[in-house]
Amino acid sequence: MGCIEMLRSIDRSGTIALVAEETCRVYSRALIPYYLAGQIDLEKMYYRKADFYEKLNVAALLGQKAVDIDTGKKEVLLSGGEKIGYNKLLLATGGRPLIPPMEGLDKENIFTFLNMDDVLKIEKALENAQRAVVLGGGVIGLMAAEALCKKGLQAHVVELAGRVLAPVVDEPVSSLLEALFAEKGVQVTTNNTIKEIKGGSAVDGVVLTDGTQIPCDMLVLAMGVAPRIELGVQAGLKIDRGILVNERMETSQADLYACGDCAQGYDSVAGISKVIPLWPNAYLGGRIAGANMAGGRRENVWSTNMNSMHFFDLCLITAGLNVSAEDPGGFVNISRLDMQKKYYRKFILREGRIAGFILAGKISRAGIFVNLMRTKADVSQFADDLFNEDFGYGSIPENLRWELLEKDLILGVVNQ
Ligand SMILES: Cc1cc2nc3c(=O)[nH]c(=O)nc-3n(C[C@H](O)[C@H](O)[C@H](O)COP(=O)(O)OP(=O)(O)OC[C@H]3O[C@@H](n4cnc5c(N)ncnc54)[C@H](O)[C@@H]3O)c2cc1C
Repeated sequence: MGCIEMLRSIDRSGTIALVAEETCRVYSRALIPYYLAGQIDLEKMYYRKADFYEKLNVAALLGQKAVDIDTGKKEVLLSGGEKIGYNKLLLATGGRPLIPPMEGLDKENIFTFLNMDDVLKIEKALENAQRAVVLGGGVIGLMAAEALCKKGLQAHVVELAGRVLAPVVDEPVSSLLEALFAEKGVQVTTNNTIKEIKGGSAVDGVVLTDGTQIPCDMLVLAMGVAPRIELGVQAGLKIDRGILVNERMETSQADLYACGDCAQGYDSVAGISKVIPLWPNAYLGGRIAGANMAGGRRENVWSTNMNSMHFFDLCLITAGLNVSAEDPGGFVNISRLDMQKKYYRKFILREGRIAGFILAGKISRAGIFVNLMRTKADVSQFADDLFNEDFGYGSIPENLRWELLEKDLILGVVNQ
């Protein structure tokens, strides 16, 4: 979507073809749990109106899979046998759910939680379900468990790590979340996983590695997502975890671009190349790729993990590094926690500069914290003020405040 919109803003007449395996137009995966919980209707899931592709003169080949790229002939082969030529090609193939081999995976009422098809199937299965097990206590697993709980199911989350949401937040927030889910009636079991899926043709329970048996009518697999790199592999692109791209979203081969969950670029805060499987990163990457594909020159000048989440009545924003108390090497963590009020604020400082933060409960001012982090501003003089609820640009020493406001960037894109 980002790429198409950028391409069309530059070039009104060139041919654009979109090949998409799913049959519906572009929608928000982040809204899948809200749809399942009955909080929004299907129409609200779509990012754009029904005539989006028509209006932008895009040949939308929905329900078609790209199975091969001939980079010599510059052609994409579709599963139906059709070939489409290209001058520039963007790979935005997203991710696929990670599912380790398990006995009984072929039973009915076992779902992933990634796309529209999954949620429609789960919705149907809800008619005859009272108990659900969700395998995986990451963002997607917790979202699924919350939605199922809101639909009146007895939900049970099973997480392999010692705490939920471990890669994204630190111990206090995991504890806040575990307490919150327990309060809402969702059981969470950590340090465990499923060794066996029980039932006849349909799942009717799971057995955990420690022998615990949990009866269920539905099992949701939410153990993470891996970049869908197969087309990139086959085209001979350089790949690490994802398809490697530079700041212009160019892959290792001319005229081939990649963005979103399938791509791996530079994380400005972590200082390493990594996959950032988040929507703003995918959309922005698409826009940057689109500008460069159309002959412009745009670069992603700053990107890192930034996640805004909401579980029951708890809002969370995380950005940059997640350094836990167990591994703070070279970092100083400053934090305030109030378990009763479900409030937590933590800043991870490296030489006086914000390298990451977590806000739970009260999430206002996140934009200013991101700006301080992006500009590597030295916050040591006013670090205590970061905890003030009314912290704002006015709380920052004057010389730094003007510097920050002048350097303010929109969406990390620079025009050259
Ligand atoms: C339940 C859920 C909740 C989420 N919540 C958030 C959130 O709150 N905030 C956030 O920032 N991010 C969230 N995300 C992540 C976010 O949705 C992704 O980062 C984003 O969708 C990535 O966009 P993408 O275009 O790279 O890939 P996708 O959105 O995965 O799109 C890729 C598309 O390519 C298709 N495709 C793949 N291979 C082929 C092929 N060979 N031929 C044709 N089509 C193909 C796929 O079927 C898919 O439709 C969530 C994800 C899920 C699943």
